[in-house]
Amino acid sequence: ALSCAELKALVRTVPDFPAPGIQFRDITTLIADGPGLAATIAHLAGRVEASGADMVAGMEARGFIFGAAVAARLGIGFLPVRKPGKLPVETMGVDYALEYGADRLEIDPGAVRDGARIALVDDLIATGGTACASAALLRKAGAVVDHAFFVIDLPDLGGAQRLRAEDIGVDALMD
Ligand code: IMP
Repeated sequence: ALSCAELKALVRTVPDFPAPGIQFRDITTLIADGPGLAATIAHLAGRVEASGADMVAGMEARGFIFGAAVAARLGIGFLPVRKPGKLPVETMGVDYALEYGADRLEIDPGAVRDGARIALVDDLIATGGTACASAALLRKAGAVVDHAFFVIDLPDLGGAQRLRAEDIGVDALMD
């Protein structure tokens, strides 16, 4: 399997997206590469398995790509953490602040078995706001959330520290 350093070379950096001055780390190029996608899932799945999780939650939308593939590989369930208004049932939701404005995430609380150990999976952690809100939501629904896994960590933005302050271990394939 490709090493994490080799995977890093498959991530594309797009300047000035979605706003001037932002360097967007784009995984489109990574997942278009067959061996790159396979190795990314293999590395993540090994870490999720070692954490003892019995379910994976992924955040819309790129967390679905990695999270569902990891869950299928391990034979455990996948829970989508969705943007508002998407789920066809009564949801449980959390509102959280963004740098500019606010957003909301929702889950189907019926998908969370009480005491389930749910690992978070997303493509990237920046400030940690999305992952912290997701963890709070899953905990409110009765899950144990003590690990989060990312393809990419942007360490200068402090997200990993923020998650660790909530007693969530953080692991990423690359910085
Ligand atoms: P945070 O909530 O500040 O940690 O931002 C992480 C969320 O925003 C994740 O769901 C990412 O998919 C998305 N995100 C933020 N920055 C980037 C980036 O540079 N590339 C890809 N996704 C990003």
